[in-house]
Order: sequence, then C-alpha cells, then structure tokens
Amino acid sequence: MSDPGGGRPPILPWDEPNRKLVANVHPPGWRNPEPADSYHLVVVGAGTAGLVTAAGAAGLGARVALVERHLMGGDCLNVGCVPSKGIIRAARAWHEARGAARRFGGPEAAGGGDFAAAMARMRRIRAGISRHDSAERFQGLGVDVFLGPSGGAQFVASDAVEVGGQVLRFRKAVIATGGRPAVPPVEGLEEAGYLTNETVFELERLPPRLAVIGGGPIGCELAQTFARFGSEVTLLDMAPHVLPREDADAAEVVQRALARDGVTLELGVEIRGVEVRAGEKAIRFERGGGADREGQAGEVACDEILLSVGRSPNVEGLGLEAAGVEYTRKGVSVDDRLRTSNRRIFAAGDVASKYQFTHVADALARIAIQNALFHGRAKASDLVVPWCTYTSPEVAHVGLPAEEAREGGLDVETVTIPLADLDRALLDDEAEGFLRVHLRAGKDRILGATLVAAHAGDMLGELCLAITAGVGLGKIASVIHPYPTQGEVVKKAADAWRRGKLTPFVKRVFGWRFEVLTRFGV
Ligand SMILES: Cc1cc2nc3c(=O)[nH]c(=O)nc-3n(C[C@H](O)[C@H](O)[C@H](O)COP(=O)(O)OP(=O)(O)OC[C@H]3O[C@@H](n4cnc5c(N)ncnc54)[C@H](O)[C@@H]3O)c2cc1C
Repeated sequence: MSDPGGGRPPILPWDEPNRKLVANVHPPGWRNPEPADSYHLVVVGAGTAGLVTAAGAAGLGARVALVERHLMGGDCLNVGCVPSKGIIRAARAWHEARGAARRFGGPEAAGGGDFAAAMARMRRIRAGISRHDSAERFQGLGVDVFLGPSGGAQFVASDAVEVGGQVLRFRKAVIATGGRPAVPPVEGLEEAGYLTNETVFELERLPPRLAVIGGGPIGCELAQTFARFGSEVTLLDMAPHVLPREDADAAEVVQRALARDGVTLELGVEIRGVEVRAGEKAIRFERGGGADREGQAGEVACDEILLSVGRSPNVEGLGLEAAGVEYTRKGVSVDDRLRTSNRRIFAAGDVASKYQFTHVADALARIAIQNALFHGRAKASDLVVPWCTYTSPEVAHVGLPAEEAREGGLDVETVTIPLADLDRALLDDEAEGFLRVHLRAGKDRILGATLVAAHAGDMLGELCLAITAGVGLGKIASVIHPYPTQGEVVKKAADAWRRGKLTPFVKRVFGWRFEVLTRFGV
C-alpha cells in the first residue's frame, strides 16, 4: 500500500477538494497490481509526458505499466499550469473590478478581496480536473498503475525497473520523471525558508510582502498575480530585464505592466544573502558589481520569498547507471528520436527537453510511442513549438525567434502590427501589445511569430497552424476574419506584408493603368 505524503498529507490544506484530488491521483488505499511477466512498455513518471505515453500505448493494444511516486498529473495538474492559471484568473477579476470605475465608468470597488476564497476556488477546480489523470481512469484504460513509494521507481537492469519491491520487466521504457524547482546556493536562504511552485499554491493567507526571485515566465506570472491580490511584491533577477528568452520589445511591455500593477523591479542584481531579522526576511543584493569592483548594495524586506529561478531535472535515484542511460545536469540525454544511450529506453517531457511546457511534453510523448513501439522515425526537431506566458498582457510565441533564425544563417524579414491598430483592442481597452511575424526574406514562409495581447495564447493558434501546414501570409490575407476581433491582427499583418510586396515598378504600372482608364472615361 502506498503513502504519497510519508505519513503527512501529500498536499495542503487537507480540505475536501484536496482530499478529492488525492483520491483521484494517488488514492490512499491503492494496491498495486501483480506485475505482468513482461511489459511492452514501462513508463516512469505520471505527469503529462507519462500519462500521454501510457494512455496512447495502451490504446494501441500494448501491455503498459505506469509508475508514479507522488501525484499523478505531475506538475501541470498539481503545482503548475492548473493552479497558476486558476489564481491568475482570480487576480485578473480583482484587478478589473478595481479598474472598472476608472476605465469603464463602472461601480467603485473598494477594499481587499478574499484571498482564501480565491485559493479555495482554484483547489475546487483542480480537484474536478484531476479526474482525467486519475489512477482509476488509467486502470480503466488497461494500464497497470503502480503508485509510490516516495523514493520512486528505480532501474535495476537495462530491461527492468523496481518499484516498492516489485520488479517490472520491459521491452521498452520511457523516462518521464519531469523536474523540480532549482534552488540557488544563497547564504541564509535555507534557514530563512522559501516558497516554490510546490508550496505557493498551498497558501491560505496572503503574504503582505512577497519577494519573487527569478523574472522568467513563472516569476512574472506569480509576481503580477500576488500584486493584484494586494501583496507588496518585489521581483529580483540578475538579468537586466524580465523574460530574457522573449522578444525584447515583448518583455518590455510585460515589464511596464508589472510596474503598473505595483511590482517593484530590482533587475540586474546579484543576490548576496538572506537574513531573518525581527520576524522578517531580508534579501541582500548588489547592483553593478564585478570581479574587481564593489557594486551598489541594496536590501528587500519581505514576509515570504518565492523562488522561480529555473528547473532541475529529476534524474537522481532513478538507477540510470544500472540501465546504462546517460544524463547530464540538464537531464536525460536523448537523440532527436528521443532514444537514450540504452536503445530500449526513451525519455520525454521536462526531463529531456529544453522546451518545458505541458503541450511539448504531450507532443514528445507521442513521438516516444511511435519510435519505441513501432520503430518510428519521428523527430523532436520537426515540432513547431509555441509557448505562452500568462501575464496581462500575455506573451505568446511560435517557431523560431528571429535571433535564432539569423544565427542559423537565414535572412529574415519582419512585419510588426501594433495592437492599437485594431478597433476591438481599443474598444476592449486592451491595445497594449503587438504582433510580430518573421518570414524568410523574399519568401512567403513564416519562420516564427511573437504576439503580445490580452489573450495572445488563444489567438496564436492560427499562426501555429500556418507554420505547421506551410501556409504563408499571402494565403492568410485572403481569409476573411470576423470584425471586430483582436484576431484580425493576423490578417492585418498579412495585408501589410502583401502591400510591401508591391514593388515601385508594379505600383507605377498600376498607376499608368488607372491614368489610361481615366483618360478614356472608364
Ligand atoms: C508554476 C508553473 C506553471 C506552469 N505553467 C505552465 C503553463 O501554463 N503551460 C505549460 O505548457 N506549461 C506550464 N508549466 C510547465 C509544465 O508544468 C511542465 O512542462 C509539465 O508538467 C511537464 O510534464 P512532465 O510529464 O515532463 O513532468 P512532470 O509534470 O514534472 O511529471 C513528472 C512526474 O514524474 C514523477 N517522478 C519523478 N521521479 C520519479 C520516480 N523515480 N519514480 C516514479 N515517479 C517519478 C513525479 O512525481 C511527477 O509526477 C508550468 C510549470 C510550473 C512549475
């Protein structure tokens, strides 16, 4: 019998929604099945990558075992996408209520909201969603589900995994063990205590002052959310601006939005240490220091510290040496077909990808199934990868960033349309942002696009399809888009690109034609 929390509740608070969640994704009384003599596929880790692999393989008739040491659904369901998007939505509602009078002549909203209620709403929704990832559902799909112990599964040979004393033999296996929050070696941090994505969604009381360390997507999303809930938030990062992997103009829009929402930005700083003084935490930092000169010292006092400085892959304690699977600090080493150094074993999801997103974990799982079970030749590098940071406004990107395209030796042409050109964006009071499309110069081939808009993630699908299907802006220009929508920005970019294709000579020819028609009274 498994015990996901090692005697403690596996997730807090131990209320009705969380009990329901755990009843689905790690039922307390779960009894692991008697293992089959051999499995076509053993999947280690039941986050998105593991669940999609197991369900897909079982659906194709394979004998599949799925092993999870903690909560099925992994980070996305339990401590990632789902809870974060739940509270982002609540914080946006609070923010809009506060701005309704000023922006729309609406009723005045005064006072703070009920943070505990916003968190409880998230927990209720998460518990409902957890049905899809439940042990019972996967058992019903024909998957042998093995849960616990907290040490997890371990490879004991090149074709065998051990879980809680049971040995599962396999023809093929997929490692889908994901990652965990990275913790920087900062003096005093352990003693002071900190939150990560694994604990921040357990909060029931709003921290009056929150310091967020790390200005990547998770840091920006949560800094803005907590500021909108009413925390006094400071965001610290070594980089000179937030979202360093995004288009610099897009990152600038988000940075301005964070500042407007009350987030204090301490960028380009090196954190020197953390101290606890009179019940508060003080983060010491330095700005502008170097090897040979002292920088300017600064300090942030706060009640809670939230770490969001990146992810570490879960490769330890997995017995990868026993299985002959090579790995590095960055994760399990795989080739383009997701094969590890052991030809029986594949890896998918965050543990083996530089793109750490749920939809990529899903896409990689599908590649792993084809290649592991059907000697397929599907390649990870063929994927057209979108992603989105769910700040207000959102920043969504698909395909190659312009810099990468240029570094790859491609000549790039760029079209940018400000959102303020869209009637609907103005009417919605959501005109801050832009669409930027990168094309191969002289060709109607879209290489990548960045969209900054209130609902950029939802609007990006058209460009994902265009790139995947090889549809160019010329074709998009001939597609009728409903008016007034913010989605029209894609068509506007296509029209602008097409107009730019009219060479001065073609324009002159058109001019002569119209002159001739006028002269003959036509
Ligand atoms: C705060 C936050 C917000 C996010 N928001 C988004 C978003 O909006 N959109 C998006 O696309 N992505 C988002 N992500 C990223 C997304 O959660 C991950 O990319 C996704 O969960 C990766 O899935 P995975 O299956 O590779 O790994 P995981 O979800 O980490 O699952 C791995 C599983 O393996 C288990 N495991 C590990 N070791 C063992 C072992 N030895 N034996 C058995 N089991 C083991 C773990 O317990 C875990 O359940 C977010 C992440 C965070 C942290």
